[in-house]
Amino acid sequence: MNLVLLGPPGGGKGTQAKRLQDKYGLIQLSTGDMLRAAVASGSEVGKKAKAVMDAGQLVSDEIVIAIIDERLDQPDVAKGAIFDGFPRTVAQAEALDAMMAKKGKKLDFAIEIRVPDAYIVERITGRYTCAKCGAGYHDKFQLPKVAGQCDSCGGTEFARRPDDNVDTVTKRLDAYHAQTAPLLPYYDKKGSLKLVDGTLDIADVTKALEGILDAVK
Ligand code: AMP
Repeated sequence: MNLVLLGPPGGGKGTQAKRLQDKYGLIQLSTGDMLRAAVASGSEVGKKAKAVMDAGQLVSDEIVIAIIDERLDQPDVAKGAIFDGFPRTVAQAEALDAMMAKKGKKLDFAIEIRVPDAYIVERITGRYTCAKCGAGYHDKFQLPKVAGQCDSCGGTEFARRPDDNVDTVTKRLDAYHAQTAPLLPYYDKKGSLKLVDGTLDIADVTKALEGILDAVK
């Protein structure tokens, strides 16, 4: 099974993708994570992407399409993928359709995790991850069970993304509405768009997503 999670930055795509990948044996493909890894490694792609990401804008279609094209050739993805943060433009969606066809794969559906803009600033500015294992937390919505200690690995160091600040969030939301929201009618016209209410608690959004995945399994 291959599916796309759509929705605004901070809408819960990454959190939900991590929960679904374990239960359904799928692989989360987050272009944001891949680009952050490229930035951290100091590669050519990372150097090009850093300033664009810090400004809350979209990295070029050419770069992210090439990253995904290469990643889809790795054997683990044969199980199926959850695309998280990709595609983000209609050109990327068309490229994904073409890549999947060429590789003999099929996109089963896209799910919009719908969250109004009013929720996003609080969600994004409060989130952080374990620096060791990447588990996600939030100052208000998802605290570690023991303060200052990661539930998953026991790590005690945490990190916040440089683009998770009030100024950049507004720019990322603008990019979402201008460049990514047109993907909703794109998938709807193909009859492959589903919707979940992303304002619910994390566990309830997971339940709604599981309902969709279980129905097509
Ligand atoms: P994310 O982790 O999905 O919020 O992405 C963080 C940043 O990485 C975005 O604000 C963009 O600058 C860049 N990025 C991630 N995925 C894409 C994509 N599919 N197309 C263009 N830029 C992307």
